[in-house]
Amino acid sequence: MGASPQLEEAQCNQYFASKSFLYKTLPHKSGPKRNRMKTLPQIDGGGDTTPKPLFGTAPDQLKLLMQSLGQSAYRATQLKDALYRQRITSLDQITTFPQSLRESLLANGYTLGLPEIVQSAKSIDGTERYLMRMADGETVETVWMPNGDGGERGDGTEAADEERDEQSNEQSNEQSNELDAPAARPDLRNRGTLTAQGYRRATICISSQVGCAVNCQFCLTAKLGIRRNLTAGEIAGQVAAALNRNHVKIGLDRINLVFMGMGEPFLNYDAFMDAVRLLGLMGIPESRMTVSTSGIEPAIRRFALEPIRPKLALSLNASNDLVREQVMPITRKWNIQALLDALNTIPLGKREYVTFEYVLLGGINDQPQHAREVLALLKGYKAKVNLIVWNPGPGIPYTQPSPEDVERFHKSLIAGGIPTYIRRPRGRDIYAACGQLKRTVDAAPPTPLVEIAPAPAS
Ligand code: SAH
Ligand code: SF4
Repeated sequence: MGASPQLEEAQCNQYFASKSFLYKTLPHKSGPKRNRMKTLPQIDGGGDTTPKPLFGTAPDQLKLLMQSLGQSAYRATQLKDALYRQRITSLDQITTFPQSLRESLLANGYTLGLPEIVQSAKSIDGTERYLMRMADGETVETVWMPNGDGGERGDGTEAADEERDEQSNEQSNEQSNELDAPAARPDLRNRGTLTAQGYRRATICISSQVGCAVNCQFCLTAKLGIRRNLTAGEIAGQVAAALNRNHVKIGLDRINLVFMGMGEPFLNYDAFMDAVRLLGLMGIPESRMTVSTSGIEPAIRRFALEPIRPKLALSLNASNDLVREQVMPITRKWNIQALLDALNTIPLGKREYVTFEYVLLGGINDQPQHAREVLALLKGYKAKVNLIVWNPGPGIPYTQPSPEDVERFHKSLIAGGIPTYIRRPRGRDIYAACGQLKRTVDAAPPTPLVEIAPAPAS
């Protein structure tokens, strides 16, 4: 049995007493406009040298910038391609620009503004955790998972089909003891390529905030509290930095993204959605992205209206409000039924399911009656469940569920007709698995690492 942390009313209220706290971060608009991007640097060609990041700037703002520098519109297109398609790593690399224009950008304080990988740790399973530093020195973590994280399994999408193929490849590799040397693996469906590193698809887990305000009792990120929101450029920039580091060619390599790193994406909604659009410019469609939310009800309703949106996962994590309030105090603000009602407003595609993430905590939410309650809750929903065995972290008073309880829970949900998958834990040895992301500097894993080192210069 895991110890159940007693959550004081006051502690809960600390985060959620004021409605304005949440509504301030989620301004209501009459409805989302297609391709609206708001998180932009100031446009200024007049000698202001305050550092202004270009990465993250929307195409229409790039046009205004070029105008302000007395340039033709095609220069904006060249800059957009350099930033998002070529993923340049310094302004010198905009080779389509004359040197005078590059100098003019620099003289006006424009910088590239990509997050910098300042530290990396590599797990025995190939997962890499990057510590990314933003321009103001704040850091977040981003996780690179070669061959995916198993989260797409069974969700009915193309990414899920690939996941299935990848798994059968992995199994045959395991059988022939070739896990470490997968170089000559054929692509069964003649799509995608194998890179020198031996992967043809990968999942990147990105952060949306520095820390998190939601205070889930089982999550290491919660320990940080909230420091600040990331901008759209900083969110998409983590992907650019990870792709550059791994020499990924979009179009040849298949990349899936999960907004499941540090932070609550729906409490940084505008920047998160702007980042989705930037990532589209980088060649990653929203159909390859999944956003996970702890359950910010107004934001789920807003998300339902988006013309272009990633897949959605709700962190359910409990089978009734009582247990959920204990492990996720935000439940006192929006209970399970309110969240399910909001989810019902999402117009699901033919092959689309809503994923429910369910972290199994030993003795807390992993017993047969909990499985029965989950089945009752999800009856009638187009739902898929991902079970996540709780990943431990220092100072978090839970225990992992027993393998027998995990299996029994899994079988009960399947027997009840809900497609249910057990998520593979990735990078647990380096604290890169779900809920283990806290800045490396604050929480160095106690176990020996395969590698933890400053990132080599790219
Ligand atoms: N804030 C968002 C996304 C980041 S957390 C959310 O909560 O949904 C991503 C997932 O990791 C969530 O499903 C969360 O429930 C799960 N998680 C958090 N801490 C965990 C832990 N210690 N072990 C396993 N999963 C955890
Ligand atoms: Fe924040 Fe998600 Fe962790 Fe909860 S589980 S504290 S919402 S990151």
